[in-house]
Amino acid sequence: MRFLPVFLDLKAGPVVLIGAGELLRAKLRVLAAAGARIRVHAIDGNQDLGLSPEDAARIEIATGDPLTADLAGVIAIVCAGASDVGVAMSVRAKALGLPVNVMDDLEHSSFIFPAIVDRGDVVVAVGTGGTSPVVARRVREKIEALLPARIGELAEFIGGFRKSINERIAEFPLRRRFWERVIDGPIGASVLAGRKGEADAALKAIADPSEFARADKPEGSVALVGAGPGDPDLLTIKALRALQDADIVFHDELVSGEILDRIRRDTTRVPVGRRVGKPGIGQDAINKRMIEAAQAGQRVVRLKGGDPFVFGRGGEEVEALRAAGIAYSIIPGITAGLGGAADFEVPLTYRHEATRITFLTAHKARDAEVVDWSTLTDTKMTVVVYMGMTAAPAIRAGLFAAGRSPETPVGVFARVTRPDAQGVIGTLRDLPELVRRTHGGPAILIIGDVVRHAGSLRRQTPNQIISDLLDAAE
Ligand code: SAH
Repeated sequence: MRFLPVFLDLKAGPVVLIGAGELLRAKLRVLAAAGARIRVHAIDGNQDLGLSPEDAARIEIATGDPLTADLAGVIAIVCAGASDVGVAMSVRAKALGLPVNVMDDLEHSSFIFPAIVDRGDVVVAVGTGGTSPVVARRVREKIEALLPARIGELAEFIGGFRKSINERIAEFPLRRRFWERVIDGPIGASVLAGRKGEADAALKAIADPSEFARADKPEGSVALVGAGPGDPDLLTIKALRALQDADIVFHDELVSGEILDRIRRDTTRVPVGRRVGKPGIGQDAINKRMIEAAQAGQRVVRLKGGDPFVFGRGGEEVEALRAAGIAYSIIPGITAGLGGAADFEVPLTYRHEATRITFLTAHKARDAEVVDWSTLTDTKMTVVVYMGMTAAPAIRAGLFAAGRSPETPVGVFARVTRPDAQGVIGTLRDLPELVRRTHGGPAILIIGDVVRHAGSLRRQTPNQIISDLLDAAE
């Protein structure tokens, strides 16, 4: 390591910035965003630095020669686009023992700028010893994705309580344990979820901080996580983080193996969903096991296909968690209907053609009979049907009864966003036949004029029977 990362106190004095053109402005933006007091020498004479009024208050435009300017109290010198002046300035700074950076010139720099992840009080600096800023930026992007957006708020939250906790817990190791439990438990989770008021109240409610720190059992929690329709890259960053943090994951059968691969290796996985022909453990048993695991101090993830609140019984699970007083959070996922629409390029709304969307489930013919089809008469409504394969004949009958034309375009989209995704397109008249042509579920049905715009059936293999009755109908 040639360059030691240290953090410069910008309150200690001004930074002198020397240079020209866009390079100068870019550095000026970096320093201004950090809150530095800046003295700028624009050596090309162009004083138009595009400053906002609030920045302008902290930025002094210097007119004299930087090589002879007074540097008393200055904390660092930065040269960007300063060519020879930069080199001369470096010599001068070094003679004075002042830290100096000459952009893209390691030889004349005594410090370099890292790539920065800026989350308020939490700042991560990434350096490559000046070898490759592009590599540093890539690393920064990875860290950006990993760090919760509100990590800075968490630091600030803790900062607000530090003094009082210091006074209440004398021993340092115990104090550290206290903060670890706060950060890793439901209070930390509340701050990261943007519920600072809740976190504040929970922390204030801790009557005896030392006892809280000493408790050997960590506080458990449950995250209801939407896994999306199958493609692991469609997991949200939050979902991925939850999978990495979990001690135990209860997952549906629908969740793809590639997604389960994103769970941390030593995490316990428990399949709990129904599979065709095989019953699952049942909703009550799922609730009970989640609650027990959380009460035992585990970080529980309940991983569900698509979105937890779309035909996923997430509502019931949340109620059970609330009743048991378990801390929980909900992380949405991409529901199968949206995944299928994107995969097969079916815009669910379309100017003048489709102005409403209905998501409905028609599980088994029995449920299809209880759907109120009369609400689906509007031909400008796109209907997305979940669990509709077996009920296809009943769905067709219902939509006919609602007055929908037999020529209404229909798509059956199976295993969407997965490598073996398949789409079959036709008309409402042929719906049961279209379903037969898909080689197994899960599948969603999209019904409405918008299906006409479907763009991509590219995943179909030649031996799959593809009908484009739509073309024939036109
Ligand atoms: N919560 C889930 C839906 C669960 S109900 C979500 O938001 O997507 C199960 C139904 O979802 C299946 O019968 C099927 O209609 C649909 N489904 C789930 N994954 C799918 C996939 N990859 N492709 C097509 N349909 C899918």
